[in-house]
Amino acid sequence: TSDVTTNLNKSVALPGVKNIIAVSSGKGGVGKSTLTVNLAMALKQSGAKVGIIDADISGPSIPIMFGAQDMQPLVTVKDGKNYINPILQYGIKMISIGFLTPPDSAVVWRGPMASQALKQFFNDVDWGELDYLLLDMPPGTGDIHLTLVQSVPVTGAIIITTPQKVALADATKGGSMFVQPNINVPILGVIENMSYFTPEELPENKYYIFGQGGGEQIAKKFNVPVLGNIPIVQKIREGGDEGRPIMMDENAIISKAFKSAAENLA
Ligand code: ADP
Repeated sequence: TSDVTTNLNKSVALPGVKNIIAVSSGKGGVGKSTLTVNLAMALKQSGAKVGIIDADISGPSIPIMFGAQDMQPLVTVKDGKNYINPILQYGIKMISIGFLTPPDSAVVWRGPMASQALKQFFNDVDWGELDYLLLDMPPGTGDIHLTLVQSVPVTGAIIITTPQKVALADATKGGSMFVQPNINVPILGVIENMSYFTPEELPENKYYIFGQGGGEQIAKKFNVPVLGNIPIVQKIREGGDEGRPIMMDENAIISKAFKSAAENLA
């Protein structure tokens, strides 16, 4: 993997971007993309300029979650160089391999190709000025993760976990990658997703179906705060599937949880 790393090494510089934040999870399906999307919306609603890089090359969900799966980025020439214009949806700039490949095609890319695509997402996309560039990381801790965190000036990482035991072990592994000495990316905090279930008609009832306290446990391990606890809410899932993030509805009961996570981050 060392040549993969040198490929990207020192080639990433984004002077207009204030914070590059990796949103990471030890395993898939814990809601990393869902939280990236809604956190981005919450940050935007607080007045920040926000972009998203969907670094999940083999399973990009950002286009669908933003209802942008049919959009294609344009290429423009600036100072003699070709630039990809990011897709602009709901006020958020975004790029994903999903915008560049036919729908439903399985992207089976080897490490170096995936790293090359990611390199383009940083260097060849016209990001302009951004307060936050969120990286929706692929699940796990593989080659691509290392390449990313070693070659991109990542400001910090957010760990997403669900409360139960099996998720915790993976989340710890994911977090450890960032803090190892040669990587040294600070963990900014933990967001616990699926903390409890709340039925729409009984919003004051909480059912801790995945257990309790997991997010806090990880946060303690890395000596960082819990930035937020997001319950399981049917509308969050529907928003993802319909391409209208729940945070589009600022009055949604859940929007407070995302807003406070965004405030804790800022
Ligand atoms: P990951 O990016 O970690 O693989 P996703 O964000 O794709 O996970 O979420 C997996 C599924 O769970 C999606 O269908 C999503 O809509 C749903 N989901 C995630 N978080 C919540 C939540 N808090 N409440 C309800 N559904 C959720």
